[in-house]
Amino acid sequence: MSAIARTRLDAWAAEKIGGTAFSREQLERYQLAKLRATVDWALDNSPFYRDLLAGRAGTSLDSLADLSLFPFTTADDLRRHGPRFLCVSQSDISRVVTLDSSGTTGAAKRLYFTPADREATLAFFSYGMANLVEKGDKVLILLPGERPGGVGDLLATALQRGGIRPVPHGFVRSLSATLAVIAREQTGCLVGAPAQVLALARWAESDGLALPVKSVLLSTDHVPRIVVSELKRIWGCDVFEHYGMTELGLGGGTDCAAHAGCHLHEADFLFEIVDPATGVPMPAGEEGEVVVTTLVRRGMPLIRYRTGDISRIIPGPCLCGSPLRRLAPVARRKDGFVALGGHGGFTLADLDEALFAIPGLTGFTAAVDNRRRATRLTITASLAAAPGGERKLSAALETVPAIRHARQAGDLAVALTVGRCRGELEPGAAKRAIVELN
Ligand SMILES: [Zn+2]
Repeated sequence: MSAIARTRLDAWAAEKIGGTAFSREQLERYQLAKLRATVDWALDNSPFYRDLLAGRAGTSLDSLADLSLFPFTTADDLRRHGPRFLCVSQSDISRVVTLDSSGTTGAAKRLYFTPADREATLAFFSYGMANLVEKGDKVLILLPGERPGGVGDLLATALQRGGIRPVPHGFVRSLSATLAVIAREQTGCLVGAPAQVLALARWAESDGLALPVKSVLLSTDHVPRIVVSELKRIWGCDVFEHYGMTELGLGGGTDCAAHAGCHLHEADFLFEIVDPATGVPMPAGEEGEVVVTTLVRRGMPLIRYRTGDISRIIPGPCLCGSPLRRLAPVARRKDGFVALGGHGGFTLADLDEALFAIPGLTGFTAAVDNRRRATRLTITASLAAAPGGERKLSAALETVPAIRHARQAGDLAVALTVGRCRGELEPGAAKRAIVELN
């Protein structure tokens, strides 16, 4: 008997496969059957896939590996073709999510979900949260939940169904106000964006505030290792991670008590890791772009969708004994790399690891101006206590090799502004990015 509890996603996958337990072989047989059905369903019902997959059929897949012969789909496809992806009539769609309007066409990315898709998300949230909380616990939801069908709203519904009490809150704006809610409501579990939850913990620490936080689930953004270790140090809590995106109906995987990567929800999704440049599938352990195929979605199935997330599958079994594979923390986004000529480059994840290591730092923004001869990096940071802030920031930046080399060579100018945190966070700053001026 394993000392570490199995991921609760196991129980759900077993239920779908038909039994109380399953082997890797049984899972992959199940995935192949679902994959074939998804391809045929898309060919029969979606104008987009009819064109993209012309001449193919689900039965042409003899194994999961054969999927690598199929074309990719991309975020740009979603922008260009939107409703042509649909396999059902618009009247069967209960929820449309509109994402950013960037990209080459300038059009918005829209995802369409049926009531059954919503149920799949709710089930994922129920099983995923069962790793952290049990009946009677209270969960503070630091994610937007005003709109019905939004992430906060769906999570609250899923928790309620499991007898867990959700406390909807939304993104953190005032640190003191949110900390007062935690103290008043005695919420032992928080779900929120990594940078926001870190700011809360550090603000509480600087105030000498003791709080009843036992577990935290970090969601919506990449998770810096330094944030995990700081939350553990300050609150002595258990820190869980989540892998998901709107395209996945929000839920793709969560880690178990072993905290060694996110177990993927492979009963509903097929995950591949491919070389970002060539598209060739990578073996377990090697880094590449995460590509996902939905296995049960009827409204808007995604086949070989390129997520833009760079990560790797962790080889070998998990300590919890689950056959579900694990995704390492997302290292970076494919499109978030700031190149510094011959010096290499850096990502927001690199800045996070370096800057959040500064004690008391509650947040920062980064902007890169490429319009000058030497690239200019501007960092604006807030500290719970500010003495010597610029010096600490400058030293922390030196730990990022590309930044250190480019600065030494005179190819990078750095401008730093450090202010004392006044207890307010930037509005809607959950999905953070480096601002680039070209
Ligand atoms: Zn595990």
